[in-house]
Amino acid sequence: MLKTERPPLDLVVVGAGVVGAACAYYAARAGLAVAVVDRGPVAGGTTGAGEGNLLVSDKEPGPELDLALLSTRLWRELAEDLGGDLGAAVEYEPKGGVVVASTAAGQEALRAFAAGQRAVGVVAEEVPGERLRELEPHLAPGLAGGFHYPQDAQVQPALAAAHLLRAARRMGAELITGETVTAVDRGPDGAVRGVRTDRRRLAAPAVVNAAGTWGGELAALAGVHLPVMPRRGFVLVTEPLPRVVRHKVYAADYVANVASGSAGLETSAVIEGTPGGPVLIGASRERVGFDRTLSQEVLRRLAVQAAELFPVLAEVAVMRVYRGFRPYLPDHLPAIGADPRVAGLYHACGHEGAGIGLAPATGLLISEQLTGKQPEQDLTPFRADRFPAG
Ligand SMILES: Cc1cc2nc3c(=O)[nH]c(=O)nc-3n(C[C@H](O)[C@H](O)[C@H](O)COP(=O)(O)OP(=O)(O)OC[C@H]3O[C@@H](n4cnc5c(N)ncnc54)[C@H](O)[C@@H]3O)c2cc1C
Repeated sequence: MLKTERPPLDLVVVGAGVVGAACAYYAARAGLAVAVVDRGPVAGGTTGAGEGNLLVSDKEPGPELDLALLSTRLWRELAEDLGGDLGAAVEYEPKGGVVVASTAAGQEALRAFAAGQRAVGVVAEEVPGERLRELEPHLAPGLAGGFHYPQDAQVQPALAAAHLLRAARRMGAELITGETVTAVDRGPDGAVRGVRTDRRRLAAPAVVNAAGTWGGELAALAGVHLPVMPRRGFVLVTEPLPRVVRHKVYAADYVANVASGSAGLETSAVIEGTPGGPVLIGASRERVGFDRTLSQEVLRRLAVQAAELFPVLAEVAVMRVYRGFRPYLPDHLPAIGADPRVAGLYHACGHEGAGIGLAPATGLLISEQLTGKQPEQDLTPFRADRFPAG
């Protein structure tokens, strides 16, 4: 039997990935009574299936880069605010990124890209080819040059989601796992009244759709169209190594792959060491629905590209492979904020390959909207009603 329980909630967050966790954290910090519901465990969706790059380096000037810059500041604050131990607990490493070009033309393209980024606050330092190995001693010889982005950082995504939720719970938030949201309740005026799960009803005047790649389905439960689609990615995890890769390192063509709307397979290796020792080599991008089949071709391409950048990796064993489905919206921007079509419905989904990086800014901006403050970044480009139905 369905029943209403507990003191009144201000907010139900659907999804206990890193984005839902950040929404819960900032809403609880703003004094709201929050419940987070997930059909699986914490970080059981895409958050537990990718890497934790917090990148400004791959974003061109525009609303996504603004979000990334805000998040960069917030990740740093989070690492300090949460008792000082969050940094270690979530493996936060402000290690910086290095983007490399193999040709002079590639370096020129990086230079033009960096000039635009610098104009909006990104720190990007040109590194001539002969000095690249001062930053990364194991890089392949003969590269034309690169750029160093000191603001790029890294976290362990599943730990980040878990610790944000733990902090939210300390501030009174409730976490409900293993329950599927099956309906979004709306009143006679059309406004959100809460959600129903397969076990209970949770009454609340606001619902945040943090359902990641399944955000379109959750939106449909509330009666609105939001075309979130899956974009598959694989990541290779090597055996533990001594520190052979110091920064996040990737080749110039990665940026073009990220921005591409192509459904076909795209790979360009992004390589990072981890505190535990394994090196992560990501990531591929392709639109093949929710197909989980392991693709030898993708893995081979990633491995070859990684060894081209770091020849030392050619001799290293791959221990395992992750795969996951990035939540993809057609214009590559997430849906963030109040849905003008349904009072009380908020979206925080569709962050594609940047949801770990962009989670804190998303959570903060939504909590500002929920508490009637002016969000510190304009949310218009992220409005969920920007996609015509059908
Ligand atoms: C290979 C790969 C590499 C990546 N690398 C990076 C990276 O380096 N940096 C970066 O920033 N991002 C990266 N990403 C992207 C990042 O992982 C995602 O953007 C992010 O995890 C999305 O988080 P989320 O909380 O929105 O979604 P999720 O983590 O998927 O969480 C959504 C949750 O909603 C729950 N849910 C859905 N429907 C319901 C329902 N009806 N009822 C209850 N619960 C429901 C799901 O169970 C899930 O737990 C990568 C992704 C992949 C696949």
